[in-house]
Amino acid sequence: MIKNITVVGAGAMGNGIAHVFAMSGFQVNLVDISEIALSKAIATITKNLDRMLKKEKIDEAAKNSTLANINTFTDTAEATKDADLVVEAATENVDLKLKIFAQLDEVAPEKAILATNTSSISITRIAAVTGRPEKVIGMHFMNPVPVMKLVEVIRGYSTTDEVTELIMDLSRTLGKVPTEVNDYPGFVANRILMPMINEAIYTLFEGVAGVEEIDTVMKLGMAHPMGPLRLADFIGLDVCLAILNVLHDGFGNPKYAPCPLLVNMVMAGKIGQKAGEGFYKYTAGTKDFVVSPSFK
Ligand code: NAD
Repeated sequence: MIKNITVVGAGAMGNGIAHVFAMSGFQVNLVDISEIALSKAIATITKNLDRMLKKEKIDEAAKNSTLANINTFTDTAEATKDADLVVEAATENVDLKLKIFAQLDEVAPEKAILATNTSSISITRIAAVTGRPEKVIGMHFMNPVPVMKLVEVIRGYSTTDEVTELIMDLSRTLGKVPTEVNDYPGFVANRILMPMINEAIYTLFEGVAGVEEIDTVMKLGMAHPMGPLRLADFIGLDVCLAILNVLHDGFGNPKYAPCPLLVNMVMAGKIGQKAGEGFYKYTAGTKDFVVSPSFK
């Protein structure tokens, strides 16, 4: 029986994951190395619950019980000692994740399942640093977590059927739609999404069309809610580059080589919405954006 969840990392994804578990009645221990990240996470969860309250999707009691179900920690061992499930959502860095999972294996109860929200790092590689690879699994939520329905459930080489079924059922309990996939570079979501984004960047790089034109074709022509360049800005160009590198290294196929324009933009720090500029330029504190002057 899964009751106690520990979420490691309280950033963009961690706060959303804590939110959805707590709203479904689970006890959530949210842990981060940064006190600031933890207080920002609680502020974000409160703001998102207030928005749901205003839209009458939840009542005041549900808001209060969700917040009451979340406790924050800076000590991973303390946060994990009673966990039935740990969902790791720390920074996308392979060495960091290997270190975190080696520690989780030491401090989490033997029965605990260890899940990672990684976008691209091999589940099998992460599982190999633990003494319980059969209980390590990918639980890949989409951003923003409270809104997006999909959970990509990724089976590592040794993940058991039982653990997979449990995580599939748990995802349904959260009101999500889980999809089971195997552990190969990029899994399914990013293996398909990232080459499309990369091709959109090549299309711009080769002068086939401008930023707005490319996004308009994909929005109106393919009914995508966001064009690929706007989506790349939303995800973060640094994240897109990191995932493309995983695909390129993992398959050894030049078709995944990141576009030189993407590499240049990341080196220049123009990594999208979180930096204020990518393919578009964003006005802080508003929802406004225009095509970046670099592409006019
Ligand atoms: P983020 O940078 O917003 O947050 C990461 C958090 O991890 C930070 O608050 C950081 O302080 C914390 N952290 C770093 N080391 C830690 C440690 N040792 N212990 C505890 N906390 C630690 O990142 P994010 O966008 O929330 O991404 C988190 C994970 O989710 C990554 O693996 C990423 O690939 C994946 N993911 C991201 C998205 C997205 O759209 N942002 C979508 C799906 C999956």
